[in-house]
Amino acid sequence: HMEMYINLITGADLQEYHLIVLRDRTEEEQANQMKNEFVSIVSHELRTPLASILGFVEILLNREVKPEKAKKYMETIHREANRLSNLINDFLDLQRMESGKQTYTFVPFDLRAIVSDVAMQWDGKQEHHVYSELPEHTALVRADQDRVTQVMHNLISNAVKYSPGTDRVDVRLREDAGNWLVEVQDYGLGIPDEAKDKMFSKFYRVDNSDRRQIGGTGLGLAIVREILNDLGGEITFESELGQGSTFIVRLPKLTVPVLDDHIVVIED
Ligand code: ADP
Repeated sequence: HMEMYINLITGADLQEYHLIVLRDRTEEEQANQMKNEFVSIVSHELRTPLASILGFVEILLNREVKPEKAKKYMETIHREANRLSNLINDFLDLQRMESGKQTYTFVPFDLRAIVSDVAMQWDGKQEHHVYSELPEHTALVRADQDRVTQVMHNLISNAVKYSPGTDRVDVRLREDAGNWLVEVQDYGLGIPDEAKDKMFSKFYRVDNSDRRQIGGTGLGLAIVREILNDLGGEITFESELGQGSTFIVRLPKLTVPVLDDHIVVIED
């Protein structure tokens, strides 16, 4: 997006000159477009749950409602309030990470524990079995446990969410040179080629008819990328439209001396 002006100016020599000004507005336009998307997503994502919370609260306050029905309404209120709270938390997390204000607690831990724990929490959700394949030996990393848990939640929830009509997600933890890799594989919608380089941009969502009904904010993968950058890791993916996707997390291995099956962790 270029903008061009032509001005007539008088030079120091009193001659008249045409001054041609070219201005590249690409970045400005992109920033504007991001802002517009942000406003429309936030207003939709905030207003929809708020409208239903307000609606049900008003019914409960102003009408006689049978106890079973009242419980249903309160469950909806609870669910929608949770959605709001998640959106706000994601938004604030990302803001903090982008501005470099996020603090991380680096501790040595066994990645197997987090991977199997999060896989188990998603097992059985939305008709999916989440199978995990783990190594027999400790998978040590030095990272922030809460943030790695958040990464696993975001990836496994996407795998479940974007594979309607299928019934399995595979999570594998394996070694690769100096790293641990966690692969989250689904057999669902997949990612169109033209979307592939935008997947980790904040607020980006694939706008295909097959996924318009699936709720989300486009913040999940942006958060995953920020966390892994900050932890010295990496996120990549492979995907084919209609076949499924595999998201791959890479975290550097922590190597420590092992004595008689006891792990000696040397803090730096
Ligand atoms: P959200 O799920 O809230 O839209 P994300 O940042 O997690 O946000 O994902 C961005 C977009 O990437 C999603 O809108 C979705 O279309 C696509 N996507 C993410 N994970 C998958 C997946 N496993 N399979 C297919 N599409 C995916």
